[in-house]
Parts: sequence; structure tokens; C-alpha cells
Amino acid sequence: MEKTLARVVVVGGGFGGMLAARRLAGAAVDITVLDRGTTNVFQPLLYQCATGLLSEGQISIPLRTVLRGHRNVRAVQGEALDLDRERGVVVARRPDDSVFELAYDYLIVAVGMRTSYFGHPEFAEFAPGLKTVQDALEIRRRVLGAFEMAETIEDPELRREWLTFAITGAGPTGVELAGQIRELAVHTIGREFRSIHPSEARVILFDGADAVLKPFGPTLSAKAQHILHRLGVETKLGVLVSNVDANGLVATDREGNQTRYAARTVLWTAGVEAVPFVSAVARATGAQTDRQGRISVEPNLSVPDHPNIWVVGDVSSLDGLPGVAEVAMQGGLHAANEIRRRVTHPDQAPRPFRYRDLGTAAYLCRGHAVLKLGPIHLSGPLGWLMWGGIHIAFLAGVRNRVRTLTAWLVALGLNRRAERTITQDYPALAASRPSMTA
Ligand SMILES: Cc1cc2nc3c(=O)[nH]c(=O)nc-3n(C[C@H](O)[C@H](O)[C@H](O)COP(=O)(O)OP(=O)(O)OC[C@H]3O[C@@H](n4cnc5c(N)ncnc54)[C@H](O)[C@@H]3O)c2cc1C
Repeated sequence: MEKTLARVVVVGGGFGGMLAARRLAGAAVDITVLDRGTTNVFQPLLYQCATGLLSEGQISIPLRTVLRGHRNVRAVQGEALDLDRERGVVVARRPDDSVFELAYDYLIVAVGMRTSYFGHPEFAEFAPGLKTVQDALEIRRRVLGAFEMAETIEDPELRREWLTFAITGAGPTGVELAGQIRELAVHTIGREFRSIHPSEARVILFDGADAVLKPFGPTLSAKAQHILHRLGVETKLGVLVSNVDANGLVATDREGNQTRYAARTVLWTAGVEAVPFVSAVARATGAQTDRQGRISVEPNLSVPDHPNIWVVGDVSSLDGLPGVAEVAMQGGLHAANEIRRRVTHPDQAPRPFRYRDLGTAAYLCRGHAVLKLGPIHLSGPLGWLMWGGIHIAFLAGVRNRVRTLTAWLVALGLNRRAERTITQDYPALAASRPSMTA
């Protein structure tokens, strides 16, 4: 009789899920990777896609391509909705909303975070976050579209509103976006407009903390602040963005004073929270979650009292580990190793996850990045070169690495960004189009 293999379901094909699936590939198990999308996305370069430097294809790779060589791994598209622990199935939906189920013996949850508006979901319409390729393309549409709008507006006040870009959150993503918008305005499109001077674009970065890039420590944070200032990015620190609408935002300081900033483009990088499937997992298993909705896990990354379910990456909470790609990748590898050992040596005790800190970095502008690796703190050109090397090394696919490196060299040498296509609709045109469902 043919022996049936244990079934492993990996929910999420990002950093953690992909590493787990690849590590399990040679083992005597059947693996299914379930993702709501079809590609593995390199989120650390999303902001370059959002500002026209890289294409969506350069920062992502089809899951099927990555997994095609592994015969015991299957990729399926669907959004995990619920977990039926009694029956051992993940309930998922297809893009057309129909539902299907995946049975598992071992489950790895690696679904990542989404943008959090801190109880104000109504801000989302006016201030897109940056977590997905769709977000990046939406930001590109808004940023490049704002310059186009400004070109034909004569009223100086209104024109200024279109040339003001407000970004909430002075963490790496906010800082990187702010730097890129100024670079785009000054270096790339500076000479392409006739009525406006894109370099007049006002980029304002808001944060509740009293420093930019605070987790990088006071020295690197001060250096980053200095570079941002030189680049022309304004920072408003110690303020919370308390309201956002189509015409701008309101910032409230610690004394409760409110200031309104008129800006037709508002981008939100202030917070993240676990995607909804994580609360379904917590409900089904009785696991505890933290303020951001992350599941508190055992030292070996499994869910308490559920030794066949692991939670890895951004949605796992253990010893205050940060939500960075390295934690996710090493977590995915660890969960896969635990499953491999369980299959071959079921009597062995679980092993705790040990994280090896490989550092963290943020890009500021051409020639400048900050990088923190234990006691080593780098900034300026050296930090920038290291930042570039790390990102190229971790980008999936040789073709993407070559294309990204080429795009960077072209941007540096010729001040060109090749990925400036945007798709827009005119309300009147959209309304006159025959309805597909009529
Ligand atoms: C703009 C940006 C810049 C960043 N820069 C850096 C950086 O410079 N360095 C660094 O170390 N880290 C950086 N990070 C953080 C890093 O990207 C994350 O820590 C990492 O992606 C976490 O990996 P993960 O596997 O937990 O989740 P993800 O990589 O987010 O993968 C989650 C996957 O799950 C899928 N998914 C979500 N919900 C469902 C569902 N219900 N059903 C099925 N599939 C689902 C998603 O489509 C996605 O493919 C950045 C993040 C962002 C957004």
C-alpha cells in the first residue's frame, strides 16, 4: 500500500513562508503554499516601485517560478479566511469569492502585516499605505499624477497644495518614500515641466516620536535628520496625525494644539497590524495576541498547546523581535526544520528559535543610507554601498538582481526612472462607459 505523506500547509508566500516551503522541499511531506497573491514580493523595495525607479516585476517573482523545481510543493492562490482546528483545515476563498478548504497535518502561518490606521479606517481612502504592489502602484499614480495636476493649475495656493506631499511615519518606509519623492522631483522630472518647478515640491514627514528612524539610535537618527534636511524634506516631530481628508491632514502636538496642512497627496506609513486571518487563528487556538494582533508563540515558534501549528515572521510575537525580513526568513527556516525533525524523529524535543541579528538599514538618498549591525553603525557612502549590496543579495531571482542594478545605475548616471507609467480614470469617462454587469 502507498504510504500517505504528512500534509504541510504554509499560509503566506512572503519572506517567512517562502523560506519554509523551500527548506521543506526535499522532505517526505506534501507542501501547499497558499497565498492571496501569485508572487513573492520584496517589500523592502516597494518604495522604489512607488516612485518609478523599479517595476513591479523587478521586485517580485511568481511563486510558481520559485517553486517549480520542487515536486512535492504546490502553490495555490486564495485568501485564508478561517481555521477549523477540529477538522484540521484552512478555509480560503478564491478571487471570485468561492470558498475551498486545505487539510493539514502541520500548519505554518506566515501572513504578514497590513497598514493600520489606528482605529480610523476612513483615512485609508485619502492616505494609502505601502504594504503591497497594489499600494505601490496607487502611490505612484498619486505622486506622478499630482505633478501633472499642478502643471495646469494657475491658482498659486491650489498649485502649492498639489505640490505638497505629506507622509505620516518617520520609520524606514516613511523616510525612504520622502527621500525618493524629493529625488524624483529634483533629479528626474525637474526639467520636464514648463509651468511648475517640480523641485519646489514640499515633502513633509510627520511622526509622534521626537526623532526620525528612532530604532537606529541617536547618532544614526541625527545623521538621517541632517541628510533629510539637506535633501529638502521637512520633518514635523512629536505630533500625531489626527485627521486626514482629500485636501490634507491635521497634526496634533503633545499640548493638544492642532495644525492643518494642505496637501493633495497624503501617504500613510505610521503603523501596521496583523492581517485578519491571524485573529481567526488566535480564536481557533485560544492563543494570546498583542496590541498589533501578533500571536504570542512558544520559544520554538509554535502556538501554545498546538505543537503542529507555527506562526512565523511579522505576525509572530516572541521576545520583542522586530518585524524585519531576517526574522521572518530565519523563523520560516526554523519552523521547517522543526517539521522535518518531527517527521523523521517524532520523539525528539522541540528546539528553541535563536535569532541571529544581521542588521537593519534604511536608504535616505543617493550616496546616503544608514545601517546598524550590532555595535557597527554606518552612514554616508559606505552605508549606502552596504545597503545596495544587501538588497541586491536578497532580491529573488538573478534576472531581477541584474535589472535592478541596471535601473539604479541609470538613475544615478542619467537621472532617469524608467517606470513612470500610471493608469488613471477620468470620472466622466468612467461614467459614460457601458456597465459590464448591466
Ligand atoms: C515598504 C516596506 C519596506 C520594508 N523594508 C525593510 C527593510 O529594509 N529591511 C527589512 O528587514 N525589512 C523590511 N520590511 C519588513 C519586511 O518586509 C517584513 O518584515 C517581511 O516581509 C515579513 O515577512 P513575512 O513572511 O512575515 O510576511 P510578508 O513578507 O508580508 O508575506 C506575507 C504573505 O502572506 C500573504 N497573505 C496575507 N494574508 C493572507 C491570507 N489571509 N491568505 C493567504 N495569504 C495571505 C501576502 O500576500 C504575502 O505574500 C519592509 C516592509 C515594508 C512594507
